[in-house]
Amino acid sequence: MKKALFLDRDGVLNVERGEYTYLLEDFEILPDVLESLKLATVKGYVLIVISNQGGIAKGVYSHKNVELVHQKLIDNLASEGVLLDEIYYCPHHDEVGKCLCRKPNSLMLEKAIARFNISASDSVFIGDSERDILAAEKVGVNGILIASNSGILEIVKGLK
Ligand SMILES: [Mg+2]
Ligand SMILES: [Zn+2]
Repeated sequence: MKKALFLDRDGVLNVERGEYTYLLEDFEILPDVLESLKLATVKGYVLIVISNQGGIAKGVYSHKNVELVHQKLIDNLASEGVLLDEIYYCPHHDEVGKCLCRKPNSLMLEKAIARFNISASDSVFIGDSERDILAAEKVGVNGILIASNSGILEIVKGLK
């Protein structure tokens, strides 16, 4: 089995702006992300992003917006040799309709664990919201809460 580093998106990989980020020009990758993910890869972690994108359900932006932003993230990392294994996002929102994937629910994590044959107990989820930690705990993944935009390098350095 593999171990995974699960990552929230906004506030962990890119700047949390306090509002929805769906335009390319607003999507700013945080400074230590590249080095952090390189190190996690060297340590043998599968890299999986798990993101709530409820603005889609609310009609604020589209799947296409999200996919373009994610392509920017993938391309930026790939240009430095870092491969993201998958990005899961939930397009739903409680105000519009319930689902099983929106964090603190854990369906996105469950899908990843099954697809990549991941050992939950050897895996870590870094998030900047209590919802991230709750989702992680539901599937037996160790959740690490950080302050938004504070960087993940020190945490990754501390991983086995
Ligand atoms: Mg976040
Ligand atoms: Zn959902």
